[in-house]
Amino acid sequence: MRNKEMLLVPGPTPVVDEIYDALASETRGHTDPRFVNIYKNAIEQTKKLFQTDGEVFVIAGSGTLAMEMAIVNTVGKGENLLVISHGYFGDRFIPLATAYGIHVEVLQAEWGKQIEVSAVKAKLAEGNFKAVTITHADTSTGVVSDLDALVPVIKKAGALVILDGVVATAALDENMSKEYNHPDYKLDVVLTGSQKAIGVPPGLAIIAFNQSALKARKALGTIPAYYSDITNWIPVMNDPGKYFATPPVNLIYAYEVAMNIVLDEGITKRAARHIAYGRAIRAALFTYGMVALAEEAVAAPTLSCLLYPAEIEDGEFRAKLAEKGVIVAGSLAHLAGKAFRIGHMGNTTPVMLEEAVKIIGESLNELGKSVDIEAAILRLKEVLAVTTK
Ligand SMILES: *Cc1c(COP(=O)(O)O)cnc(C)c1O
Repeated sequence: MRNKEMLLVPGPTPVVDEIYDALASETRGHTDPRFVNIYKNAIEQTKKLFQTDGEVFVIAGSGTLAMEMAIVNTVGKGENLLVISHGYFGDRFIPLATAYGIHVEVLQAEWGKQIEVSAVKAKLAEGNFKAVTITHADTSTGVVSDLDALVPVIKKAGALVILDGVVATAALDENMSKEYNHPDYKLDVVLTGSQKAIGVPPGLAIIAFNQSALKARKALGTIPAYYSDITNWIPVMNDPGKYFATPPVNLIYAYEVAMNIVLDEGITKRAARHIAYGRAIRAALFTYGMVALAEEAVAAPTLSCLLYPAEIEDGEFRAKLAEKGVIVAGSLAHLAGKAFRIGHMGNTTPVMLEEAVKIIGESLNELGKSVDIEAAILRLKEVLAVTTK
């Protein structure tokens, strides 16, 4: 491992050497057939990951660009969008859509809780919603959305389902050919970025549109976008030798390698692995007197937001961890200073989780809270063993 620190923030996530090697490969022209073949393969891999019969886009940008692409290509000015928000990233769709003159309605969950499906049903009954956004896992709260409950309700109301998978894609099931209770009830748009569960450094926006979403784009005609307009990218995605805007050549090399890792492991195994990671790391940290913001039943497999025991100060705690080479994130909005967030996704390994539990324990002990590190590691291993069976 080339990494000197353990990057356990909820994105970017640890980059493995194979991916660094790919990044450092010789930069070629974007129309060089050797690069074009790699780009083609990267697009095919993305279609396979999402199991979509529609179009996928892998372009320079971050997750937020993919969010913007999802909205501007499906919802027109003056049309209605419903935002289901489980935190900071769910909320991001509000100013984004508002900037394009879209009428936004919001269902905001109390941080740490899920929105009730009955509330979604009631809201959808009120109006004519073109689309509904769901954040698969909200990175501010560590709450996961219940797609099995939400998707049928939204599709029944005739709206498009836009899924923000930025901290979920490649770790949780987002199969776009999956039928949610009815042959026509499927995910319409799924979007992500390269730096979370895919394990590539930041810099790629990745998004898939199914046939219904592509139809919605067509029906809009001209849209107030250029780089984000999928119409400009479809010819390139179908033939990556064509030019619209220069692709980030080296990131595409890295992404292709990362997607080989993802597809070789397979999404079923990856999903089970992430569920195990989430349960195990939380169980271990609970032994230190920490409490997760989200109850276990709604907790995300990819990251956790943990409230500090009373005597622990955020800045001191994270600085201590950083000295020992473990990087975790602070919390957002009203939770700043009261909780930290730890990512456990992508190419993170059980050995890293064990090391993190050990170093967190050592740091707590040095800060005057007496914790039993061995017991915590035992708990981690127990839960990992049970959930990966
Ligand atoms: C990180 C994140 C985003 C934003 O992605 P950027 O790459 O930072 O633009 C959006 N949604 C979720 C759920 C995220 O975790």
